[in-house]
Amino acid sequence: MIVCIPFAAHAHRRPLPAGFAMLLTEIAPPRFDVDLDLRYATVDNLTGRPIYRRPLCLLHPAAASALARATVLARGIGCRLRVFDGFRPVEAQWRLWQALPDPQFVADPRQGSHHSRGVAIDVTLADVDGTPWDMGTGFDDMTPQSHHGRTDLSITAQRNRACLLGVMVAAGWIFYPYEWWHYQLPAAETYPLLADGVTGIGLLSR
Ligand SMILES: [Zn+2]
Repeated sequence: MIVCIPFAAHAHRRPLPAGFAMLLTEIAPPRFDVDLDLRYATVDNLTGRPIYRRPLCLLHPAAASALARATVLARGIGCRLRVFDGFRPVEAQWRLWQALPDPQFVADPRQGSHHSRGVAIDVTLADVDGTPWDMGTGFDDMTPQSHHGRTDLSITAQRNRACLLGVMVAAGWIFYPYEWWHYQLPAAETYPLLADGVTGIGLLSR
């Protein structure tokens, strides 16, 4: 299913430029060669409760294009991207912040997460059969072990992280030093913050 959702002007923190119009793109097979493991739609996240009421991954079209490039590169080295989170409404960022108000690991919602702009993604690599690769820590492991450039992990984990880094950077993404799973577009701060209403379907759980 491909869902393209019009952005709503009221969901932006600042007024939209005249003529501004774009769409959010759903990230799902078969259009995108990815596995989905959307943790914020489950209890398996740092809040211990589902944040989303449905497992839906959306991205800004520019980010969706970069992700498509990354899927091709991943396939070229015999693996597949596995996505933990994409677009995260501003309201969802508040829930994460209330659970862990540490700006090293959770963006302060007052500043805005690049996930809330639709141009960041949390991702890992998996075998083509879906078996996730060992990255040394799990997703949202908020410890120094999650930082890039660690040499105190197994050789396999270091190599796997390097593969993910290479795939994503070559596809046009920028890495975040404190989380091996987080990538964002260049100049991410220039994209507007978006609230849940922009999806038109209500992504947040009650
Ligand atoms: Zn992230």
